[in-house]
Amino acid sequence: MPSSQFAVRSPGWMPRGACQGEDPELFFPIATAGPALAQVLAAKAVCFRCAVRAACLSYALATGQAGIWGGTTQEERHAMRRPADFSAQRAQHRAGTERSAIDHRSNPAGH
Ligand code: SF4
Repeated sequence: MPSSQFAVRSPGWMPRGACQGEDPELFFPIATAGPALAQVLAAKAVCFRCAVRAACLSYALATGQAGIWGGTTQEERHAMRRPADFSAQRAQHRAGTERSAIDHRSNPAGH
């Protein structure tokens, strides 16, 4: 991501991004379809030649950034997070189900 927006507390990999010197506006399209698609593709083209793309993508996934990061749109990152969210929900549900089964075994009448 262009450093002008993240001069304070930016991760160490940011200055090595291929977007340094690019117009920051390029990475914040107003939409991801229609006329804005050309801007999205132009931003992604910068990202795809970036040496720190993986770190950038991880950062954006972890911090919920808007705009183009790591060669992905916010919507694409949202879709990438969903399976993990679903897995976490399943794990919580499973833990709750197992806890209920244990409670039921130790107190079958539920009292
Ligand atoms: S992946 Fe894209 S947004 Fe991230 S540092 Fe590289 S060029 Fe910038």
